Amino acid sequence: MSLRVGVDLGATKIQTLLVADDDSIVARKRGTTPVTGGPSAVLAAVKETIEHLLVRADQPASAVATIGIGAPGQIDVAAGIVLQAVNVAGWDQPVPVSEIVGDMFGVPVALANDVQASIVAEHRLGVGRGRANLLGIFCGTGVGGGLILNNDLWLGTGAAGEIGHTVIVQDGHRCGCGRNGCLEAYAGRGALEQAARQQHQAGRPTMLFELMEQQGRSRLTSRVWLDACLQRDELALELIAQAARAVGTAAGSATNLLDVDCVVIGGGLATRLGDRFLNDVRAAAQPVLLRSDVASQIVLSELGDDCGALGAALVAGDRLSQR
Ligand SMILES: [Zn+2]
Repeated sequence: MSLRVGVDLGATKIQTLLVADDDSIVARKRGTTPVTGGPSAVLAAVKETIEHLLVRADQPASAVATIGIGAPGQIDVAAGIVLQAVNVAGWDQPVPVSEIVGDMFGVPVALANDVQASIVAEHRLGVGRGRANLLGIFCGTGVGGGLILNNDLWLGTGAAGEIGHTVIVQDGHRCGCGRNGCLEAYAGRGALEQAARQQHQAGRPTMLFELMEQQGRSRLTSRVWLDACLQRDELALELIAQAARAVGTAAGSATNLLDVDCVVIGGGLATRLGDRFLNDVRAAAQPVLLRSDVASQIVLSELGDDCGALGAALVAGDRLSQR
C-alpha cells in the first residue's frame, strides 16, 4: 500500500492526514503553527507533525509516496513556492515549500492553495459528490474561495476563486489585502478578532478574551467564538451574525452570477458554528438571490476539519500520477 500525506498549513494550526489508496483516512495529527521564527520554524513544525502522524499510524517514512501541502495565500503551484501568505506570521517573502519539505522526507511534494484543495476534496469525497459546479467559501483566519466548473477546478488566469476579496460593502471596512469592503473584512477570523478587540478596549463587556486565556490561546480561535456564542455573549453573537450576513450576501451574489449546483460553506469558523451559522447565511442570501428557491443549495462542508489536508493529498496523488 502506498500512502499519501496531506497537510493543511493554516495560520493557527497544521492539520495532517495519512491517506490510503482508496482515499480513506488512516490517521490524523494536528500541530500548532508557530507565530514566531518565520518560515523555517513553521516548516520544522510541519516536519514534526508529519513524523508524529507516522508514529501514530505505525508506518515508516518509506511508506509515504507523496506529500501534498495546502497553504494559504498566493501560490506558484508549478514551482511549489508560496509567494506570500499574509495570514501566516513572517511569510511575506517567497518560500520554496515543496523543495524544503521534499528534502526533509525524500519524496515528491505538491503544493496547492488550501481552499482550492478543500473544494477538490468536497467535490470528490464530500458534499459536492456527483455535482459538476461548486463554489466553496471557507471562513478561517481569512476567507478563501474555490470554484469547480464542469467538474474541473477553475483557476482563471491563475487567481480565480478569491471570493474573500469580492466587495460586499462599498467603501466598507479595511481588509487585510489593503482594499475596502471585502467579504474577508467582515467574515474572516482575523477581522472579527480585530473588531472584538477594538470594542472591548472601548469598554464593551465580553467574555471572548477571558475564554481565550482560559483555553491557553493568544488568539480568538473558532472554539473560543463557539463557546462565547453558546454562552450568549452579546458581542460574539453580534459579530458572528455580521459574518454570516456577509457570507450570505456574497454567496447570493455569486450564485446569481454562476448558478452553481451548490455553495459549500466551510473553514474552521463555519465548521465549529455549524447549522446555526448556515441558517443565518441562507437567511442573508435569500433576499439577494434572483431565484428564490436556491437558498437550500447553500450547504455546510461535509469533510469539516479534514477538508484541506484531504484535498492536498488528493491533489498530490493526481499530480504524481500525471508525471
Ligand atoms: Zn480584501
